Amino acid sequence: MFINKNAENKSLKNNILALSKEALEAKKIDDEVINATAGTLKNEDGSLYVFPSVEKAMKSLSTNEKYAYANSAGTPEYKEAVIRKVFGRYEEEVKKECFVESIATPGGTGALNLAFTNYVNRGDTVLLPNHMWENYLNCAQEMEFVPETFLLFDENGRFNIKDLSKHVEEIKKYQKRIMILINDPCENPTGFCMKDEDYDNFIGLARKNPDVDFVFLVDVAYFDYYSMNGDTIRSRFAKLKDIPSNAIALFSFSGSKSFGLYGFRVGGLVILSKEEKEAKAFIAANNFSCRVKWSSVSTSGMNIISKLVLNKEYKDQYEEEIKYVVSMLEERSLIFVEEAKKVGLTTLPYERGFFICVPVDNPDETRKKLHEDKVYLISTKNCLRIALCSMTKSEAKRLPRIIKERLSKIG
Ligand code: PLP
Repeated sequence: MFINKNAENKSLKNNILALSKEALEAKKIDDEVINATAGTLKNEDGSLYVFPSVEKAMKSLSTNEKYAYANSAGTPEYKEAVIRKVFGRYEEEVKKECFVESIATPGGTGALNLAFTNYVNRGDTVLLPNHMWENYLNCAQEMEFVPETFLLFDENGRFNIKDLSKHVEEIKKYQKRIMILINDPCENPTGFCMKDEDYDNFIGLARKNPDVDFVFLVDVAYFDYYSMNGDTIRSRFAKLKDIPSNAIALFSFSGSKSFGLYGFRVGGLVILSKEEKEAKAFIAANNFSCRVKWSSVSTSGMNIISKLVLNKEYKDQYEEEIKYVVSMLEERSLIFVEEAKKVGLTTLPYERGFFICVPVDNPDETRKKLHEDKVYLISTKNCLRIALCSMTKSEAKRLPRIIKERLSKIG
């Protein structure tokens, strides 16, 4: 074999994009098929949801805004737009307390890639929640770090800071810098959302352990779907301006999820630090990595997002549209949760977002068996993940009973 040592074991398991393709093919033949696989927003008629404001911004681009190369780190407008998007009206407040920088990336995946490349040493342990977007595990294999999981939920279905702290206590015996990755709010795959106090507890964790350097990597891919009022979640992100200097916060932003620009491959990584030298190192190292890994990011994608964030007319329109989408997701989730209760199907604590989880003993086997019931979804290590974002309301009503009956058959 010519393939190198690290590449020998590379093989995508449970590849969501491939499973989604399979479901699309099945749906073409039989309309009764429920495709709850991919994290893409669909309308009630099953077509892809497109934000009219995004379409408008796309059409407004000049030739240069579409075709020219951008520099590796992204255009200055885009870098500003990413910071504005994440912190909104709290931007100035955050900048008063911390050094803040951003860099353009191909999607949230590119942002995570940079965070793992430049903030984790090979062989380091990284803490992840036990319910997670499992592509993080592929990143661990690619970037050669060791993923260790903490329990996401405590016995009351709240964020389990106790278990997280326990892991930190153990890891700090052999490692002085610890990355903690959370995907919040609207966690993939559970739909779990943290609270204000959970963010306070992160700061507390860093203060209690001054001998440890913390990297809080917050994957905010789905944050627009948390509330009709975007300030609610941004005020929570802004809390991290109070981190002590033995911690930094990194925010991974996804243009795919925020704006439905899945195929444009645009996203960004933001740093928040008390130290100027950290902000400078962020720019230098990530600029270098961008140039080496992908050269630069989609110019069209960056310019569309810049307009949607920085231009009031586009921004106001988008904010109205996101309210519609949040209510569409809410309707589907309420229907699903109510039906699940009726038929006695257990779900994990869900609050908002694209996905909801049903814990099962043999997720992969159950997922495959559900094809006999014309249901396509994703299995995680311990659950079935149902993409509410890609289902209709009537499918959300039918699905809990189908799953429950299949589970009874499997025993
Ligand atoms: N983070 C989470 C939790 C995701 O679910 C996804 C995509 O499904 C991403 C990040 C990255 O998405 P993209 O690279 O398309 O921005």
